[in-house]
Amino acid sequence: MNNFVYEVGDNLYVNLTNQCSNSCFFCIRNSHDGMNGKNLWLDKEPTAKEVIESLPKNLDKYNEVVFCGFGEPTYKIDIMREVGKYVKSLGKKTRINTNGQANLIFGYDVTEKLVGAIDTVNVSLNASNASEYQRICSSVFGEKAFEAMLDFAEKCRDRGIDVIMSVVDIIGDKEVEACKKLCESRNLKLRVRKFE
Ligand code: SF4
Repeated sequence: MNNFVYEVGDNLYVNLTNQCSNSCFFCIRNSHDGMNGKNLWLDKEPTAKEVIESLPKNLDKYNEVVFCGFGEPTYKIDIMREVGKYVKSLGKKTRINTNGQANLIFGYDVTEKLVGAIDTVNVSLNASNASEYQRICSSVFGEKAFEAMLDFAEKCRDRGIDVIMSVVDIIGDKEVEACKKLCESRNLKLRVRKFE
């Protein structure tokens, strides 16, 4: 069975794809088949209609609807836009968790498609520089993925979307400090998450 939506805490998550341009060494997909008892490997990627039909009738109890899934959600940006606009029409907030490589994946600036559909873009920064990022994330685009990710974040921010860069403190104090400096220099917000 394909699980297109699943709950995590107070949020409802949407699983659009298993495709990803990274192979992060820490990816949950390396060790688990899903989350909260739901298998998130897909036999088939959903259409927007299928996602909308999978949503609970009442979204009141959820804080946000988050496009995250078991892969990089921007691969399905048009479906995400359609579902995001539908969710927002119901008065709910939307977020994507992304590796920020969408403009490389599509070969042009796709950030306009997020406007009106996505309230918050959470970009996994993971490292303070391109070579360290590539060591951790092994992007199919090589080291240019890092600058493209920062550029994607800036473009989203300039379109009025709330952008949050994130790192996990397991990368060490020195790297966390370097990430803080980098984000300050690019006028991007940074959230440092505790490793659990
Ligand atoms: S970007 Fe996300 S989905 Fe892709 S490999 Fe890294 S952690 Fe996994």
